[in-house]
Amino acid sequence: MIQDLVAAASTGDDDAVYELARIAAADPTRLAAHLPELLDRGVLWPPTLFRAADREVVESIVGRVDAGVASSLELNHLLVVLAHTRSELAEAALRRWQETPPTFMDGLSVSSLGYARQGGWTVRPDGSRRELCGPVAYELVMREVPEVPDGPVCPWCASPLWTVLDLDTGAPEVRQALAHTGWSGRLRITTCFLCVNYTTLYADVTPDGGSSWSSRNQRPDYLRCSTEEPPPLLPVVGPPRSSPYLASAWDEGGSTLGGTPDWIQDAEYVDCAACGRPMDYLGLVGGADLGWGEGADYLFLHAACGLAAVSYQQS
Ligand SMILES: [Zn+2]
Ligand SMILES: [Zn+2]
Repeated sequence: MIQDLVAAASTGDDDAVYELARIAAADPTRLAAHLPELLDRGVLWPPTLFRAADREVVESIVGRVDAGVASSLELNHLLVVLAHTRSELAEAALRRWQETPPTFMDGLSVSSLGYARQGGWTVRPDGSRRELCGPVAYELVMREVPEVPDGPVCPWCASPLWTVLDLDTGAPEVRQALAHTGWSGRLRITTCFLCVNYTTLYADVTPDGGSSWSSRNQRPDYLRCSTEEPPPLLPVVGPPRSSPYLASAWDEGGSTLGGTPDWIQDAEYVDCAACGRPMDYLGLVGGADLGWGEGADYLFLHAACGLAAVSYQQS
């Protein structure tokens, strides 16, 4: 069956590609044996297909880049794929090309090591590797919550701030899902559910559950929001997901704590507004689960700076 999908995908069959991507999310290793063929047939998108690439496949991609690709577009695809393999061999190659860029690198807007972020990891200033995502994931299920009268409001549109997350690392599943962030204690994140559609919003957070509008938020000139009540819903931790890749920004039931993001647009890991470093990814809350069907809120944290962030993408 996978063999048929691979053949169909190579002729540009979008449904087959979608089905392969679903398999790669549920269990990437099921595609491992088919990756050399996908590579040969030029099926490089989505790059998540290559999560379970073995040494041979990674070596083949690295060799292709070293031999000289045909265009900056092909180079871009191959670098994104390498980032998603997360392998040491891929990391070594990205580091090498950072110093000695391959052909067509000057046509790309991101440096070689900058591609690591596409796969959910990065390199610290001291050169060590840092994971931006957690290795485990849990469903986020919506719990109805009463309106809070006279609570804090958005300074831009006056809508009451929405609590998009309220967790505590005292719960083992939360501790596990947030281990990569270094956070300890209660984590409550408030945001403006309307203004986040215009720009990334930051919140100052403290381990006692404090969350407040950050003075670092920058109001875009084009922002036009009315005053509305936020959804009377709080995403709470549900059952574990069978893989860290099963978040869905599209489908009902896709909201997820931990694991890796399902981007609607290009990967956009948020930078900390305080220190400029990449923030850790926490999870996503899909519009489908909030009753408006569109888009997704992506949640981030930089524990060292006590700053959380929410960004929004839609199709
Ligand atoms: Zn607002
Ligand atoms: Zn920071």
